[in-house]
Amino acid sequence: MNYEPKDITIIGGGPAGLFALFYAGMRGASAQVVDALPEPGGQLAALYPEKFIFDVAGFPRVLAKDLVKSLAEQAAQFGQPVHLNQRVTGLEKDGDQFVLVTENGRFASRAIVIAAGIGAFSPRRLPQQCATPWYNRGIYDVVTDPEAYRGRRVVIIGGGDSAFDWGTQLLDRAERVSIVHRSDRFRAHDATVQQFRAAVEDGRADLFVFHELQDIMCRASDDRFSHIMLKDVKAKTSTEVEADVVLPMLGFVSDMGAINEWGLNIAKDEITVNSLMETGREGIYACGDVTTYPGKLKLIAQGFGEAATAVNQAVHWIYPEKKVAPGHSSNMAIFGQKDD
Ligand SMILES: Cc1cc2nc3c(=O)[nH]c(=O)nc-3n(C[C@H](O)[C@H](O)[C@H](O)COP(=O)(O)OP(=O)(O)OC[C@H]3O[C@@H](n4cnc5c(N)ncnc54)[C@H](O)[C@@H]3O)c2cc1C
Repeated sequence: MNYEPKDITIIGGGPAGLFALFYAGMRGASAQVVDALPEPGGQLAALYPEKFIFDVAGFPRVLAKDLVKSLAEQAAQFGQPVHLNQRVTGLEKDGDQFVLVTENGRFASRAIVIAAGIGAFSPRRLPQQCATPWYNRGIYDVVTDPEAYRGRRVVIIGGGDSAFDWGTQLLDRAERVSIVHRSDRFRAHDATVQQFRAAVEDGRADLFVFHELQDIMCRASDDRFSHIMLKDVKAKTSTEVEADVVLPMLGFVSDMGAINEWGLNIAKDEITVNSLMETGREGIYACGDVTTYPGKLKLIAQGFGEAATAVNQAVHWIYPEKKVAPGHSSNMAIFGQKDD
C-alpha cells in the first residue's frame, strides 16, 4: 500500500519518535511515524510499562506507560498518523523524495528522522519446543496488564531485572509466584532480589535456581495448562509445579536490519551524528538511543532535545525559507496564543 507523502517520516514511535512527531506538527510540517511494534512507546511500552521513571523533566515520577500516553496525546494534537506493525525493510529514492519500504507499505517523504532506538526488537523466546504451542495461551512474553494475573499461579522464567521486578510486583496479585532460573546468579537489582527472597522465606513464593523448563502439562482441558515440569540442571531431577501462566523474561533480541545498509555513519547499531543530528546522508537525521556522539547519554531526556534539533533541521532543509529556530511555543498562534 502507498501511503500519502509527507514532509518527514520518523522511524520509531518510542519517546524520541513521538516527540519528533509532535515537533513536526508544531513546525507546520506534515509527518508520520512508522514502527514495527503493535503499540507506540518503544522500550517504555514493550519493556517496562509498569515501572516508574524519575528523571524526566517536570515529572517527579511517572509510570512509563503514562509517559507514553502523554507523548501520544501531545503528538495527536496535529492529527498526524502513527503506522504500527510496520517494520522498515528498505529505502528507495524517487526524485527528491525518499520512499521507506516496510513489510506492508511504502511511505514517501522529503526527509527522514531515524528514532529507531536499539532497533526493531522482539522478546527472546523459550528454546523448549514444548512451549511453542502455548504462546498467547498461557505463555506471555510481555506483561501489559498485571491485573490479568490476579489469583493465578504464575511462573516467571529468567534471572534479570524484569523477572524480579515482575516477581515482586505480582506477589500481592497472583495466587503464587515462582521464579525459575538456570543459575544462582542474578542480573537484577539486589534490593528487589532480597524482597523476593523474603517472600520465599515467608512461604508466599518459590525460587527455583539451577532449574529450567522441561515440559508443560494440561490435565483439565486442552485449552489451558495446569502444571509444568521443571528440570534441575545439576541434579538432573524433575519437579512438578502448578502453573496457570508462564512469563518468560529472557531479554529481547534487537535488529537494526535495513538501516545498516543506507550509507550512514553507523557502527555497532549506533548512528554517529553531528550537533545538527545529521547522519552523513543529506535529508536523513537521527535522534534518541540510536545516535552516538561525544557526551551522548542514552536517556529519554536527551532524546527529547535531539528530536527537537533533528526536526528543526529537517524542516529548514525541506523549506529553506523556514528558520531553524522554532520560536517559543508559548507565543505560537498554532496553540491559540498571540504570535510574536
Ligand atoms: C528497563 C529499562 C528502564 C529504563 N529506565 C529509564 C529511566 O528511568 N530514565 C531514562 O531516561 N531512560 C530509561 N531507560 C532508557 C529509555 O527507555 C531509552 O533511552 C528510550 O526508550 C530511548 O527512546 P527512543 O525513542 O530513542 O528508542 P526506543 O524507545 O528504543 O524506541 C525505538 C522504536 O523504534 C522502533 N524501530 C526500530 N527499528 C525499526 C524498524 N526497522 N522499523 C520500524 N520500527 C523500528 C522500535 O520498534 C521502537 O518502538 C530504561 C530502559 C530500560 C530497558
